[in-house]
Amino acid sequence: MEKQKYYQPELETMPREEMAKLQNERFMKQLHRVYEKVPYYRAKMAEKGVTPDDIKSIEDIRKLPFLSKADLREAYPCGMLAVPLSECVRIQSTSGTTGKRVVAFYTQHDVDLWESCCARAITAAGGTKEDVLQVCYGYGLFTGGMGVHGGSHKVGCLTLPMSSGNTERQIQFMMDLRSTILCCTPSYAAYLGEALKEAGYKPEDNHLKAGIFGAEPWTEEMRRDIQRSLGIKAYDIYGLTETSGPGVAFECCEQHGMHINEDHFYPEIIDPDTGEVLPEGEQGELVFTALDKEAFPLIRYRTRDICVLSRDKCSCGRTLIKMSKPRGRTDDMLIIRGVNVFPSQIETVLMEQGYSSNYLITIDRVNNTDTFDIDVEMLPDQFSDTVRAITAKEKALTDALRTTLGITAKVHLVPPKSIQRSEGKAKRLIDKRKLI
Ligand code: ADP
Ligand code: ZN
Repeated sequence: MEKQKYYQPELETMPREEMAKLQNERFMKQLHRVYEKVPYYRAKMAEKGVTPDDIKSIEDIRKLPFLSKADLREAYPCGMLAVPLSECVRIQSTSGTTGKRVVAFYTQHDVDLWESCCARAITAAGGTKEDVLQVCYGYGLFTGGMGVHGGSHKVGCLTLPMSSGNTERQIQFMMDLRSTILCCTPSYAAYLGEALKEAGYKPEDNHLKAGIFGAEPWTEEMRRDIQRSLGIKAYDIYGLTETSGPGVAFECCEQHGMHINEDHFYPEIIDPDTGEVLPEGEQGELVFTALDKEAFPLIRYRTRDICVLSRDKCSCGRTLIKMSKPRGRTDDMLIIRGVNVFPSQIETVLMEQGYSSNYLITIDRVNNTDTFDIDVEMLPDQFSDTVRAITAKEKALTDALRTTLGITAKVHLVPPKSIQRSEGKAKRLIDKRKLI
C-alpha cells in the first residue's frame, strides 16, 4: 500500500484520550457560548429543563435537546446565529431535497475549518499539489462546489472550477488539462463514465486516478461500476450544509467507511423513534454537534441519515472514528404496503443483476393499495432481445427484488438512455401518494 499522507496529521492521528479531551474542552466552551448567544437554543434548553450547570462534561450531552431541520426552518434566516451578522463572510444553502431550504452562515474561521476538512479528504484520496482537480459539483449556494474548491486550493492542486453540467465541456477539459482527481455526485460520475465511452474513450485514455464523490447515497455496486468505467479509485465524502458542507467525513485508502472529522463534529447515533443514544456499532440516526464553528454552531443536530459508527483500527493510521456509508435518510425510507424499503436496497439488487444505476421508482395508491413500479434501463446489448427474453429478465429481476425487499415490485425494462440523467443529486423516486 502507498504511504499515507495526512493534511493535518496531528489531529487526524491523535491518540483517542487526547481527542476526547479536546472534544470535551471545545464542547464545554461551545455550549456556554451558544447558551449566551442563541436565544432559540436557550429556550429549547429551558423547555427541557436544563441549564449549562447541569452539563459537567461532554458525557452529559444526552441531557441536551436535539435540533432538527424544523427548528432551522422556524429560526430562518438568522435565528441560529451565534455571532453578529457583520462577523459573517458567507452563506450557503441546502439543496432543498426534502423541503424548504435552510441557510447556513460562516465566519472566515468557519470557512477555513470547512476547507481544511475538504483538504483532509482530498489528501486521503491521494491528492497533492501535483494534481489537477476537476470540480463538477454545482457552485453557488450548494456547498458541494465551494467546499471542495476551497479544499483543493489548500492542498495546492490545480483547481478546475467547472461547476455542474455541460458534459461535453467537462470531457474536453478533463482530457486537455489532464485532470487527475474528479469531484462530483456519484450519479454524475456514472454518467460521465457513460459519456466518455460514447465519445470513444477507453477508461485508460483519461488521466484520472481518483474520484471523490458524495452529496447523495451510493452503493458499493455503484462504486465498482464507476471505478471500472473511469479507471479510478472512487472515494466517498459526506457532509451537510447544516454542519458546513462536504468534508464532515471522508474515506481513506481502505475505502471502508468514512473518518469523521470529530475534532470539529462530535457524532452520536440515536434511535430515530425514541431519541435514545445507541451503543457503538448499532445502526441509527446520526446526530452532530459542531464543536468549534462560530457562526452557525448547531448542538445535537439530527441529520436524519442512517448509519453505524465504528472505532475499529484503520490501516491508514487515522484514529478518527468512522461512519458507515449512510444507507439513506430516515425520510428516504419508503413504507410500501406496510413494508420498510430503502431505495439503496433496490439499487444493490439492480447492480448485482448487472443493470446500471439508471432506474426510477414510482409509488402510487390505487384502491387503497400501494402500487410499486420500477423502471430499469436495459443495457445496450439487451435492447435487441425478443419480447419473450425481456419478459423473462423482468421476472428474474422481480424475483431477486422480492427476495431482498420482501414485497413484489412491477419491473419494467425500458430502452437504454430513456431515464433522465442528473448533473447533481439524482432523482430516483416519484411518490405520488404524497400528492393525495
Ligand atoms: P439537502 O438536505 O437539501 O439535500 P444538503 O445539500 O446539505 O441538503 O445535503 C446533505 C445531505 O446529503 C445529507 O444529510 C445526506 O442525506 C446526503 N449526503 C451527503 N453526502 C452523502 C454521502 N456521501 N452518502 C450518502 N448521503 C450523503
Ligand atoms: Zn482510514
